[in-house]
Amino acid sequence: MSLLEIRNLDVRHGLLQAVRDLSLSVEKGETIALVGANGAGKTTLLRTIAGAHMPAGGSVVFNGIDITTIPAYRRVGLGVALVPEGRRLFGQMSVEENLVLARSAGRRGDWTVERVLEAFPNLKPRRHAKAGNLSGGEQQATAIGRALMTNPEVLILDEVSLGLSPLAVDRVYASLQSLIGGGTTIILVEQDLRRAMRVADRIVCMLEGRIVLEGKRGEISREQVSEAYFGLG
Ligand code: ATP
Repeated sequence: MSLLEIRNLDVRHGLLQAVRDLSLSVEKGETIALVGANGAGKTTLLRTIAGAHMPAGGSVVFNGIDITTIPAYRRVGLGVALVPEGRRLFGQMSVEENLVLARSAGRRGDWTVERVLEAFPNLKPRRHAKAGNLSGGEQQATAIGRALMTNPEVLILDEVSLGLSPLAVDRVYASLQSLIGGGTTIILVEQDLRRAMRVADRIVCMLEGRIVLEGKRGEISREQVSEAYFGLG
């Protein structure tokens, strides 16, 4: 049984259909990179898995449980955590307070503030700093740390590199790599194709709400993905 089974998913924003009859299975421990042009429906898909959008049709089954209509906060308790685009931290609260607050929403598990600070060493000296005063990279690390504090079984990341310096992006991905090495299941949206193809076990390319290409790393080329990206495939 796959960890996550998305079947025939339709998601609408009013009259606009952002996800169309989309099916995707995610195996435990897998890292999936979702790529595609602006407006392809990637964010909508991630948010639907996390429960922030309700689909018009189809189903989302997680660990054998049909979560299609379960509200977002209960999905967190089942092990589904989203790191949203734009991070959305509590800016007046410290890094530590942001992390601690998340714990009560999640499952029981091994993640602690100390472990997050180990996983993101650049946060260590910023532990008591207000989240609103952090650099972009530190904020992103805090946002990922907050999701980890819920002890997720699947970690969903929307455009973690957006607006970060190249050095900050490298740091975030170095930390993600060690999570991947530790067996965490990850679904991420990444605009940088090269990076996506380096980090993921499988690349899934969306266009106009559908999956137009998917393949394991090493089994599809950058050229194939680029063509699918723009609907030339
Ligand atoms: P981006 O990289 O720009 O975030 P994306 O692939 O993540 O793109 P979505 O953000 O999922 O795509 O958007 C898919 C389509 O749905 C787009 O046409 C977008 O304008 C539309 N859309 C997204 N969110 C909403 C919303 N809340 N209300 C109305 N339309 C929306």
